[in-house]
Amino acid sequence: MDEEKYRVPPKTKIKLKDFDPNDTSLFDGGKKEAKAAMVELNQKLSELQELLYAEGKHKLLIILQAMDTGGKDGTIRSVFEGVNPQGVKVAAFKNPTPLELSHDYLWRIHQHTPARGEMVIFNRSQYEDVLVVRVHSLVPEEIWSKRYEHINAFERMLTDEGTTILKFYLHIDLKEQAKRFFARVEDPTKQWKFNPGDLTERERWNDYMQAYEDMLNRTSTAWAPWYVIPANKKWYRNWLIAKIVIKTLKDLDMHYPQPAEDLEHYHKRLLEMTLSEE
Ligand code: ATP
Ligand code: MG
Repeated sequence: MDEEKYRVPPKTKIKLKDFDPNDTSLFDGGKKEAKAAMVELNQKLSELQELLYAEGKHKLLIILQAMDTGGKDGTIRSVFEGVNPQGVKVAAFKNPTPLELSHDYLWRIHQHTPARGEMVIFNRSQYEDVLVVRVHSLVPEEIWSKRYEHINAFERMLTDEGTTILKFYLHIDLKEQAKRFFARVEDPTKQWKFNPGDLTERERWNDYMQAYEDMLNRTSTAWAPWYVIPANKKWYRNWLIAKIVIKTLKDLDMHYPQPAEDLEHYHKRLLEMTLSEE
């Protein structure tokens, strides 16, 4: 598998228009086959998460960013299905509260980064502070333009201290977004997800693409890479992200901890106890 083609190399200038949101080229088959493949991937991910938790050594941070309807929620639901909820946390970053705004923009982020043995998924993240904040000029350029470097340094510190970071930008196009908005407006089971403000953001699509492109080019580092995930096809998005997360966990070369002492003695004692209980 060559998922590396979706990874943004450090210090290069990619163009988002060179990434096809409809791409499904690494999967041999279609939706039906991908859904079947997911059953096995969910199982594998669940085993690896258990090992991460048991070993208690590594920390995994997964960052999801996307335009509205890009599929952050769906990804979390599908990729992490079956994973033990005790070892996985989701942190969603919404409009900052007055308290959060009174601190620096990384303050609310840092307290949600994973502890040893944990896997944390960020639904939106520190990157909102160079996306929505930039597009709407919520702070002046001289402030937001410095944030790329802060974020790189922050993520460098996290990885130096034992965190593995994966960043996924879910790439959909305007046409697919329209389709998903129509579904949200028309389908009574999806209407709750519709927020009229989302249409105002859609009008700024090109500004967002520029902000996303700069984010990808300036913050995809050797220690915390960005992947541009083709996301028009939900099944491909889920399959690809599951593959990348699994590969990353496997590369950590984790092991179940060795017992502190030889358990042979306890095994014998347990046998004697249970026999005498019969
Ligand atoms: P989503 O759209 O991710 O599925 P949601 O609809 O449940 O989430 P929203 O109320 O839309 O929740 O929350 C996210 C909103 O908060 C987005 O419009 C996002 O751009 C905004 N937001 C997040 N972080 C910031 C930030 N640092 N500054 C300003 N706005 C932010
Ligand atoms: Mg929203």
